[in-house]
Amino acid sequence: MTSFMEVLSGALPTNAILTGDVAAPYLTDWMGELKGEALAVLRPSTAQEVSRIVTICRDAGVVIVPQGGNTGLVGAATPVTKRAAVVVQLGRMNRIRRVDARDNAATVEAGCVLATLQAAAEAEDRLFPLSLGSEGSAQIGGLIATNAGGTMALRWGMMRDLVLGLEVVLPDGRIWSDLSSLRKRNLGIDPKHLFIGAEGTTGIVTAAVLKLVPRPAARATAWLALSRLEAGPEFLSLALQHAGGAVDACELIPRQGLSFASAHVDSAQSPLDPTPDWAVLMEISGPDAERLQETLMSLLEVAMDRDLVCDGVVAASEGQRRDLWFLREAIVEGQRLAGFQIKHDIAVPVAEVPEFIRVASDRVSKLDAHVLVSAFGHLGDGNIHFNLSPSASADPADLSKCVYGTCLEFGGTISAEHGLGRKKKKIAKDLQAVQTCPFEIESLLDPQRILNPLSES
Ligand SMILES: Cc1cc2nc3c(=O)[nH]c(=O)nc-3n(C[C@H](O)[C@H](O)[C@H](O)COP(=O)(O)OP(=O)(O)OC[C@H]3O[C@@H](n4cnc5c(N)ncnc54)[C@H](O)[C@@H]3O)c2cc1C
Repeated sequence: MTSFMEVLSGALPTNAILTGDVAAPYLTDWMGELKGEALAVLRPSTAQEVSRIVTICRDAGVVIVPQGGNTGLVGAATPVTKRAAVVVQLGRMNRIRRVDARDNAATVEAGCVLATLQAAAEAEDRLFPLSLGSEGSAQIGGLIATNAGGTMALRWGMMRDLVLGLEVVLPDGRIWSDLSSLRKRNLGIDPKHLFIGAEGTTGIVTAAVLKLVPRPAARATAWLALSRLEAGPEFLSLALQHAGGAVDACELIPRQGLSFASAHVDSAQSPLDPTPDWAVLMEISGPDAERLQETLMSLLEVAMDRDLVCDGVVAASEGQRRDLWFLREAIVEGQRLAGFQIKHDIAVPVAEVPEFIRVASDRVSKLDAHVLVSAFGHLGDGNIHFNLSPSASADPADLSKCVYGTCLEFGGTISAEHGLGRKKKKIAKDLQAVQTCPFEIESLLDPQRILNPLSES
């Protein structure tokens, strides 16, 4: 009888099948916490090849774990399964098929890296308005499958809001193609939403049509010391009122995050002296530089009058702007380099962010007197990365249960933008923090559950 690997070899070019040492980097997650096993890592270059792989795996009952840039933070792209598995890595399907400036749309393959698409859009005087720390590695398919958020979601929404059309290989091997750039089309239920945010459990995305927007001619960026944490939501609300729809980002910056950054990342120093307990990094953009500066200055005047903001710097050049954003991203890298950490990607209603941070910080300190809390991130969406560097004797599971439990008490969610993946699936179930749906969509589409069965780890 022909073996599974022999059938695969007959269906794919030799260089599309990786085994042994060359496959190893694809079997561990970005955090280095999960290690999986796979019969092979497959790197198809067309939707037809993906379709062949799915058909062969379905016939053999082999699990498929789709993988993009492998930057996901919840272990969803790592093949930790009870059944035999392959990884399908989309990196070779990386073409930008078309950037249509007149239609404000781009057609791209799933393996295209986000930064590559951003650059291609910019070359046509357009912006693809999604930005995150992993944009140099994360791929369009992964961003769609996780419904990624990032720093500009406040203004432009999450990935779901930016997807116009999709091409997907379904669990039975068929290719479903709907690469439309239409903004409006009411023909009943829109199937593309079955794949966005589904973490690769319902289909393998092979291409997409994505929304672009005009590239803003000017940006104004400021790093502002909050008078107190409670001033954060009020400042945000003032900024939204003042600047209309021009607020791209409003990121919360804690002193603890900056101390991780300055201790471990070269040239990551606070722009304010003394470093405030809490700051925000805010950016607005629009077509007119002068008007933008005026808006920012008058906003700051009112914010200072109301004692919401007590100090700040405004970027005077593109270089200074980049430095401020570098510092924001250095918070993540600094804490990673500081040693073991427990990440919590939570969201609560924006107005509840300060009280949530206070209560959750207080509760985790009672469990671990030496825990360091870096609560930072997308204040504009109420999405806080409540990341802990615990002491060696602390129980990570207890700490996480405490953070998530507190978040639920505040009417929040235990996953704002990273997904549940393999790491959070169980705790979500235990805390009954999953989305309520009257039927199991994954099983309806894929009765054998060969596509990324996340609960099977
Ligand atoms: C430094 C850093 C900063 C980050 N900042 C943010 C942030 O601000 N906002 C945010 O939302 N996330 C953030 N992330 C998390 C991560 O970058 C996102 O989740 C991203 O969308 C993952 O894309 P990827 O290509 O790396 O996907 P992977 O990690 O490879 O996969 C993620 C999931 O998508 C599935 N998948 C991948 N490709 C496909 C495909 N073609 N078809 C179907 N399923 C597929 C996988 O099976 C898995 O379930 C950050 C990560 C890092 C390391």
